[in-house]
Amino acid sequence: MDSMERVGSQLRPPRAQDLNVLACRRCTKVWPNGTTQCARCGAKLSARRDKSLQRVWAFWIVGLICYIPANMYPMLRTRTLFQTQEDTIVGGAVELIHHHAYGIAAIILIASVLIPVGKFMAVVFLALSVQNKGPKVGNHQRHRML
Ligand SMILES: [Zn+2]
Repeated sequence: MDSMERVGSQLRPPRAQDLNVLACRRCTKVWPNGTTQCARCGAKLSARRDKSLQRVWAFWIVGLICYIPANMYPMLRTRTLFQTQEDTIVGGAVELIHHHAYGIAAIILIASVLIPVGKFMAVVFLALSVQNKGPKVGNHQRHRML
């Protein structure tokens, strides 16, 4: 408990930065800060991942590019004796509501629409707060939100 640091009203363990060390991402061996290459496995060492925010935005954009067509194109095809009907995810959920399957429709809407949209919004919120372009959120509070 001696190494714990008080942040606000809570204790937190020290960060690697506080202890002036960094860890190898490949083999997890800890080295003094400033070491450039892991002597155990040969990996390049760095305290932070290079261009991590650019990676976040790149993955966010790719996710959005995949999410939009996934909700625009039919995902469900229903064939009966006389007709074939195609529905998107939301259209299929609406169809289920018409057949009084409210629980299944709610699960589909929550899992396919609300949760992904919420995740997109959370990533934007967190990335902007890290870039200091959005809401002011402390590191500890941002970490707790994850
Ligand atoms: Zn290593």
